[in-house]
Amino acid sequence: MGRSEKLYQRARQVLPGGVNSPVRAFHAVGGAPRFMARAAGDRIYDVDGKAYIDYIGSWGPMILGHSDPVILRAVQETMQNGLSFGAATELEVQMAELICQLVEPVEMVRMVNSGTEAVMSAIRLARGYTGRDKIIKFAGCYHGHCDSMLVKAGSGALTTGNPDSSGVTAGAAQDTLLANYNDLDSVAELFAKNAGQVAAVIVEPVGANMGVVGPADGFLPGLRQLCDQYGALLIFDEVITGFRLALGGAMAYFGVEADLVTYGKIIGGGMPVGAYAGKRQVMEFVSPVGSVYQAGTLSGNPVAMAAGLATLTQLRDRPQIYGEIEEKARYLAAGIRRYTGCQVNQVGSLVCAFFSDVPVTDYDTARQSDTTAYARYFHFLLDRGIYIAPAQFEAMFVGAAHTQEDLDHTVEVIRQFGGIQA
Ligand code: PMP
Repeated sequence: MGRSEKLYQRARQVLPGGVNSPVRAFHAVGGAPRFMARAAGDRIYDVDGKAYIDYIGSWGPMILGHSDPVILRAVQETMQNGLSFGAATELEVQMAELICQLVEPVEMVRMVNSGTEAVMSAIRLARGYTGRDKIIKFAGCYHGHCDSMLVKAGSGALTTGNPDSSGVTAGAAQDTLLANYNDLDSVAELFAKNAGQVAAVIVEPVGANMGVVGPADGFLPGLRQLCDQYGALLIFDEVITGFRLALGGAMAYFGVEADLVTYGKIIGGGMPVGAYAGKRQVMEFVSPVGSVYQAGTLSGNPVAMAAGLATLTQLRDRPQIYGEIEEKARYLAAGIRRYTGCQVNQVGSLVCAFFSDVPVTDYDTARQSDTTAYARYFHFLLDRGIYIAPAQFEAMFVGAAHTQEDLDHTVEVIRQFGGIQA
């Protein structure tokens, strides 16, 4: 038995399922999760010393690759001054200024500690600002694990068969209205039925938690138009797409402005960070200037800010990265499509191979995928040193550290795996 398996046996005694987040468990594909020891560039190494080309990248933050020297140095230098003060610092101001500079519509930012917190807070703010209760969300979109968003949720909630988590009260779920991704009529219908009651529409501008599902032409502008028509806010959950699709995120990539935007992952460079942001007029409803309460002991933590700033400044200074990672993702997607016959969706640097004959455009079509075939594909790749998500309904994250050689090797291994029937 390898060290990963031994650790897994130990872990299961003291951690539910042996993990601290279900998406890293191997429940959907079988076997013991690999326990990781270290990572550098596009490689991650498990406790048995086996190396993998990593297409998870900590689920998105590692856009510049693991152990990026500039980020590590920033963290080391900052921590010499102390780990946390619970008081205002210059780094927080720099971070907020940089975000406002990089994301044109954003005028104010509030830092939090995770994507979940960012979404939870943005929803409270939308409700406080509009004085309305209801939120429209899309089936298959994942917005973290706050109660009201665990309704037909994607990611691990979908993978484990609990898109509507138990423990969520009917009260918490009743103000969440469910629409279909890429289906504007379903949104228009909800607005019409709940006139004057909808505070916001929240959407992943690229669905990246039911596999990868891009917005159909007109979908995001249509949401903007409906929100304007009914006086609701549009919230882009950019926890995955922020600083990944473009410096300005999905708003810049698709040319659609949201009223509020949520961030996580890349914004922290690998440290636990999230943020919500938007126009001054809305953000000034947040405490202490406004009546919407939201706080955090560790929010804006200096070490986390240093890691985030070192990430965002590098992306700002090397904007060509965006074209490069998109091109790599396109190359990878073409290779997977050629050799597996899968439905391969790719948007920017996000890729997903659905084991399905049906084009995937929403939750229902995503769920038609053959997850048993995916499990075989996953283990074939894992055995050969390629680390992808242990679940069908997740993205592959391509980053600046992926080399052409490693992309070629990945495609070659996928060729050996063979087709969708393999
Ligand atoms: N929103 C989206 C779009 C996400 O992908 C995630 C996490 N994968 C979250 C919110 C929640 O973020 P966190 O896990 O940091 O709480």
